[in-house]
Amino acid sequence: MDINDYVYALLRDRKVVLLNAYPGFGKTRVAINIAKRWNEEGGEALIITRSRAEAIQLCEFARQVGIRDRTALLLGRESLCPFNAHDSKQCLLYRLSGLCKVRTRAPAKSITTCNPIDVFNEGLCPYELSEALAHQLPIVIATHAYLSGPELYSKLINIMNNWHKPLVIIDESHNVIPGLETSISIGIDELERWALHGNKLARRILEKVRGYVPQREVILVSKFDIDDLLTGSEAFSDRVIEILMHYGTDVCAFTYDGKVVRLRCLSLRPIRDLITRSEKALLLTASISRRFSHIANAISSSLHYVAVDSLPREFRENFTVYVINDVEFTHRNRLLKDYLDLVNTVIKFFIESAPPVGGLAVFFPSIEYMDMYINNYSPPIWGIPTFVLRDSDVAVKLIDEFRESARSTKTVMITYAQNPVGEGVNFLEQELIGVLMVGFPLPQYSQWGFLKARYYKKLGIGGFTTAFLFPAISTTVQVLGRLLRDLDRHRKIAVLLDRRYYQYRRFMPRWLALSIRAIGLSQLMKLNLW
Ligand code: SF4
Repeated sequence: MDINDYVYALLRDRKVVLLNAYPGFGKTRVAINIAKRWNEEGGEALIITRSRAEAIQLCEFARQVGIRDRTALLLGRESLCPFNAHDSKQCLLYRLSGLCKVRTRAPAKSITTCNPIDVFNEGLCPYELSEALAHQLPIVIATHAYLSGPELYSKLINIMNNWHKPLVIIDESHNVIPGLETSISIGIDELERWALHGNKLARRILEKVRGYVPQREVILVSKFDIDDLLTGSEAFSDRVIEILMHYGTDVCAFTYDGKVVRLRCLSLRPIRDLITRSEKALLLTASISRRFSHIANAISSSLHYVAVDSLPREFRENFTVYVINDVEFTHRNRLLKDYLDLVNTVIKFFIESAPPVGGLAVFFPSIEYMDMYINNYSPPIWGIPTFVLRDSDVAVKLIDEFRESARSTKTVMITYAQNPVGEGVNFLEQELIGVLMVGFPLPQYSQWGFLKARYYKKLGIGGFTTAFLFPAISTTVQVLGRLLRDLDRHRKIAVLLDRRYYQYRRFMPRWLALSIRAIGLSQLMKLNLW
């Protein structure tokens, strides 16, 4: 049975369906095909994906299946404006200065392109047009930012309020199923102003901060009501109030790392609310294996889980994941010289054993650890093109250069697990043929992390499992997923340098667990990896 028919049939009987399928399976096309059918039967569909690039790709697929004229691409002003105007004030300045020559208030006309520049070249503002169309067309594509930002979320709800038969499709849903998270910084001077206006909570925070320099981020206050904040709150920033109204105070805390006080919040409320408002919901992901599927019960108890767990045979033959099962990188040992030397030896071996053409990526568990390694061993020392990706602002440019180089010669990228390469970027042919992951990418233990774990435990979905293990496995799946393109033509290898990848393999999707070969470090060094 065709996967679209299968999923659509499931949606007839079930309120919420979660489809877990390996990266590269074509979930994005499933999203568009389901939205198209739903609309043909008189419904409206909201498709939410992770980033602007993925939203534009969805729009392209909509164009290919002939529903672009029924689809609005709802993105923020900065994402659509050719001058990256980030708010209406900046937009006005660009207009007044003559830089932007858009004159017309965008008429609601259908468009056939997914490129904002094409719209601009027709004399229209891509942002204004997309906002207008989102209120008129039955299919809307937006990003996860529309769930986490209070103002953007209310835009979505306003649109959906006029729909009769809404379907919501959340792509890359592993990013939102354990809840949405946000944080904002609050200056000490701001807190002092609030305290002067009689706010007791601000006073409490200031008392705790004075003269205190913690070694790592700590929680100052975690239990408070919105009323505690509203007392004497004339000086409060609107953003703090907005966040608390959007997220609630179930899991909110003021934290301090010795420099900055932050308000951190985690909430399942916006996702639950969106699903409740929808007639049906389809969640798409590659990272929620069967063992983690219970986490999704936190957003809907009537969820039906379905998995596409096997890679095509020709893919399986060309994909091997080596887990080094006699090494573990902990917070205590990983900065020791012996361990850094070991990392350097394995990287060198990994590079030397790779074929003469193709891209290799080395992922460190955190940016700090990556910097520590680079400071000690300062690449490039391997005599091949080497890219260090630290800053996500330059990621697109750097990834393009890396890909181009990898198409003609052996090329390496040094980066860290949570950066933009790790998720959503496609590497075709030999653009990426090998991945080395140093250490197991557990989120750093922190008081905020433990607060989240306690909350998940209360919900009955496992504290450590949801707050720590799930993000680590999810990151691993996404990183290794970058290797799953064109496997029928190229052999691709992953080396996972930490025994915990083997220990927790049962939490991985089946296609990944079955690709794992556990070996010792000395055995690895004798292998011809490719
Ligand atoms: S009118 Fe549109 S295109 Fe022109 S500056 Fe404003 S947001 Fe950008």
